Amino acid sequence: MRVPDSVTSSPFVTEVAPITEPDEVIRRHLEDAELPPLLPALAYLTGDLSLLRDDLRPDPMLAAMPQAGLTAEQQAEIRQIALEVLVRYRDGGCEPAPVPADEDLLRIMEFAVGGAEMEAYLPLLEEELAYRGEDRRAPGWRLDEVAPGRTFRVVVVGAGMSGILAAHRLQQAGVAFTVFEKNDDVGGTWLENTYPGCRVDNPNHNYSYAFAQRHDWPYHFSTQPVLLEYFRRCADAFGIRDRIRFRTEVVSAEWSESDLRWSVRVRTADGVEEVLEADAVISAVGQLNRPNLPDIPGLETFAGPSFHSARWDHAVDLTGKRVAVIGTGASAVQFIPEIAPQAGELLVFQRTPPWLGPTPDYHDEVSEGQRWLYGHVPSYSEFNRFWIFWRMGDGVLETVRVDPDWEPKTQSVSQMNEMARALLAGYLTAELADRPDLLEACMPHYPPGAKRIVRDNGVWTRTLKRDNVRLLDGRIRAITRTGIVDARGEEHAVDVIIYGTGFQASRFLAPMQVTGRGGIDLHEHWGAEPRAYLGITVPGFPNLFCLYGPNTNIVVNGSIIYFSECGVRYILGCLELLARTGQRALEVRKDVHDEFNERVDAENRQMAWGCSDVNSWYKTAHGHVAQNWPFTLLEYWQRTLRPDPDDYELLGDR
Ligand code: NAP
Repeated sequence: MRVPDSVTSSPFVTEVAPITEPDEVIRRHLEDAELPPLLPALAYLTGDLSLLRDDLRPDPMLAAMPQAGLTAEQQAEIRQIALEVLVRYRDGGCEPAPVPADEDLLRIMEFAVGGAEMEAYLPLLEEELAYRGEDRRAPGWRLDEVAPGRTFRVVVVGAGMSGILAAHRLQQAGVAFTVFEKNDDVGGTWLENTYPGCRVDNPNHNYSYAFAQRHDWPYHFSTQPVLLEYFRRCADAFGIRDRIRFRTEVVSAEWSESDLRWSVRVRTADGVEEVLEADAVISAVGQLNRPNLPDIPGLETFAGPSFHSARWDHAVDLTGKRVAVIGTGASAVQFIPEIAPQAGELLVFQRTPPWLGPTPDYHDEVSEGQRWLYGHVPSYSEFNRFWIFWRMGDGVLETVRVDPDWEPKTQSVSQMNEMARALLAGYLTAELADRPDLLEACMPHYPPGAKRIVRDNGVWTRTLKRDNVRLLDGRIRAITRTGIVDARGEEHAVDVIIYGTGFQASRFLAPMQVTGRGGIDLHEHWGAEPRAYLGITVPGFPNLFCLYGPNTNIVVNGSIIYFSECGVRYILGCLELLARTGQRALEVRKDVHDEFNERVDAENRQMAWGCSDVNSWYKTAHGHVAQNWPFTLLEYWQRTLRPDPDDYELLGDR
């Protein structure tokens, strides 16, 4: 895991400063420490594997608990060991030990997550750790070296998290590209969603590019302005801003079989259209981009202000108003607590209650001690990232897998899933013990993992208990000029309606019109069942690559940035294949695509979200799970390391 200077490219890693503080200050900072990653970091720092004591190993079953369920005695012991190690490190001149050999690193990693036999994870985790800013996912080739004189032009659609990343990698490989972005800045979802309370629900050490880490996140779960700033800084630092054409939307892309190129039609905000030729198109348009307005009769007749959470109208003053919110998904649960104190009365229309994942530090700033540790203990920040990566990814996948013998499957799908259900139900019961009416309305009757679990630090239930908030049945009959008619026919007069009703997630790449070989329209081709190979390539659509495409979403809260990093590497691998073979285009073989999708479908049926009949945006109207990756994160990484040439038809010598 030693970092060659040549691949250290991130401007975001905060330098680790030498420790100069007296023992007492170190002891004080250790009080704030997130402990599970601490001993692994210290073993890495000192090379002393005897620090990895079995009696201090985190229990993987308790990973979701504060400090992974370590007892007070274990915590005190770890802090004492850490103090002694850090004092010795300070007094020895802050010299880290040599980087451990792979077998030692494996032991450190296995201890860190309480796992065993993780050899297959070693290279992935080394990448994810991105120790000291290394960038192991950078393309190891440049077009002018692999295919001197060859020109190749790529259009990237969208300058959000995935588009910025794709542009950065194309630039590193020396491939010409233009990014088209309909907005006037980068950031995608973090630019568009400005609703009050908007923040990421995946800890920032994980929700950030592996190669562009920072130790100094102000919050564990950063707010929208912090994230937008991060992506802006990334775009600047990667030097890609002048390659982005802002306020310009890609309207259509049409494949020419004679030229083996795409004709891409773009339209500026002023309505001026232009057609460009491109060898490849990378769609980085995001899935949760086009607001979904509910199909409720009379919606358009409402006379007052109304808007969707992703198009928040900050000009509407909610002070003292009767406000209706439709929906209680991840967005609504974030903004309702923010607007409740302001509204005169707040009516919350809930159709299906979310499971709440207790997250005490959800809104907290990173404490002073924890920040000091990130900034002074080499590799602590990286091992913390690794700890999050595991406990929110492959480490919890089994809790949402269906046990075929488990009956009935309505409330839980396995013994482990039932344990998770009991834990979450216990949390809700404790929070709403004094309000049996709310407890009944808020208790989900579907398995955890069938819908997205929403984080909570007690704010949601406290909000529902407010005198000016009423939780109502979300099966709305109609919207009128003046209000909302509920399922029982009662009309509730309101001044403002806010739609927290999610996105048209299954309409991948919409509203772009994409025409492939033989004049096939992509959306007609997909019909109700969007599919792609590895979420990236589609038969009949050569040199079209999707990021965050079908079946690349995650339910148990891993980071979608991980998927984009894997996907972009794969796409660059496809371009490298074309450059090395001298071919012009590649198209995934239909049999390869179909076989892959059969496997995905079968596996999705074995997961809580595929087995349960609760409605969710993971499924299309026909019940097909179009969103979720049902396998391990490791498998996606392995499959996207590089394209297998046998999976593709290569077209047209140059
Ligand atoms: P969502 O999860 O799809 O929630 C939509 C809500 O609207 C649900 O409560 C749904 O009820 C309700 N709804 C939809 N149509 C309705 C209708 N006709 N009548 C009544 N209620 C209706 O959307 P979201 O909250 O915007 O979140 C979408 C995704 O965005 C999340 O799952 C997450 O992946 C992402 N997100 C992430 C963050 C974050 O990281 N901080 C924050 C927000 C969103 P049903 O449940 O009954 O369908």
